[in-house]
Amino acid sequence: MHHAFAPSGRATAARARRMPAAFFVAAFAFASALLLSACGRSPTPPTPPGSAAAAGTAATSQPGRVLVVSIDGLRPEFYLEAGKTYDAPHLRALMQAGSFVEQCESIFPSLTYPAHTSIVTGVRSARHGITSNGVYLDGSRQKHAYHDGDWYWYADEIRVPTLWDAARARGLRTGAVSWPVTVGARIDILVPECWPARGGGVGYPDLQKRLANPAGLAAATAKGPIPTAGLGEPELDAWIGHVAAGILRQNPPDLLLVHLLQVDHKAHQQGRSGKEVADAVHRADAALGEMLDAVKKTGGFERTTVIVTGDHGFVDVRASLAPNALFQEAGLLRSRSDCKAWAHAAGTQAAIYLRDPADRATATKVLALLEAHALDQGKRLYTILSRADLDRLAAYPGALCALDAEDGYSISGTIRDTLLGRSPHKGSHGSDPSRPQLATGLVLAGRGVKPGARLPRARLVDIAPTVARLLKLDMAGTEGRVLEELLSE
Ligand SMILES: [Zn+2]
Repeated sequence: MHHAFAPSGRATAARARRMPAAFFVAAFAFASALLLSACGRSPTPPTPPGSAAAAGTAATSQPGRVLVVSIDGLRPEFYLEAGKTYDAPHLRALMQAGSFVEQCESIFPSLTYPAHTSIVTGVRSARHGITSNGVYLDGSRQKHAYHDGDWYWYADEIRVPTLWDAARARGLRTGAVSWPVTVGARIDILVPECWPARGGGVGYPDLQKRLANPAGLAAATAKGPIPTAGLGEPELDAWIGHVAAGILRQNPPDLLLVHLLQVDHKAHQQGRSGKEVADAVHRADAALGEMLDAVKKTGGFERTTVIVTGDHGFVDVRASLAPNALFQEAGLLRSRSDCKAWAHAAGTQAAIYLRDPADRATATKVLALLEAHALDQGKRLYTILSRADLDRLAAYPGALCALDAEDGYSISGTIRDTLLGRSPHKGSHGSDPSRPQLATGLVLAGRGVKPGARLPRARLVDIAPTVARLLKLDMAGTEGRVLEELLSE
């Protein structure tokens, strides 16, 4: 059941399915409790259900709101070919009413957690600190009680200011539903994304403790259409859409970040053009539609800017590479905890770490090994990204190098006897984001957006400065730029 949001490796299936559901139950209770308390405490009267006229006259004096929806694994063709290959009427309508980008470049590695963190910080992974999906455990003391296979859940791992920090600094209210790396974030209405690690790790009680703030939350209960089968459940995006729409209807924050997951899940299972990928796009679009309905009821697009984006595209894969097989064969690795070199892999790439980064003899040996196996019967399996390449890509500080798989291959951190093996899935991502297939998309509509504008290219790191402009936030020091061409003000 490997997909981008499941613990990899030998997770027990029962645990992996059961715990996320339990988590989501708590998260839903959490969200509901906050919604109730937020409504009860609200210093301003709720915005009247917006007729366009009511919203229109007040719009110029009222502060704007921004809704950012990330459809994980969103590719530009979902809206460029909507109505043909893809059935995504709400996304298509947003594109037609607003402006859009033809190709939005991710970062390296083009993985979910680093990329989402770039969306909210405007910088690449070496600077924001979320260098991969999973934490690389090098034996040194970690900030949290991470276990092997854990992902970067905790917002305090992010080393630079986020959009929610900048919004809070301006006294604005923030919200996030299932947005990566938000556990413990200083977000007013928060349903973070998280699941317990395989074999224990940061478990549900720990999560609950973190979520149970503000006080009174743990006692709250709520009924809702909660997916009982966890992250693999097709209804998950619908549930996230319900929660987000509820937040938008009852007491919309100035900034709301929402992450939908199912398109990515299906693209891992079936590859880029899988039938169920198109079905998941349709369901994500329906969830988006529910959020847009809620926006229309609270000031509409005169009040709110809607931004739909993703984190990466997808490549099709048919085989997997396990570089740790090479290290094992060379006597450099006996187990995860007993090794001189380790391939920290995810998707179609891997960072290569030395247990002792100053060990030059092992560095030489490892680089020679990787060079020697890069071709299989004359055919290239992967490219070695040198330390200088990684510096240029602003990725993996501390790694010796990284491997970027050729088309058709994923890279696994498994320890097995052969470099080449079967791939458990048909689609993946993670490689150098300049590959056209790995581009994601970007659509903007509503308040402050120029209708009918179209940009050939943008980057994920441009989103934070653009949102900052819309909300008049201070986001100095980003690597991206304000997408002025798409804005009307
Ligand atoms: Zn993703």
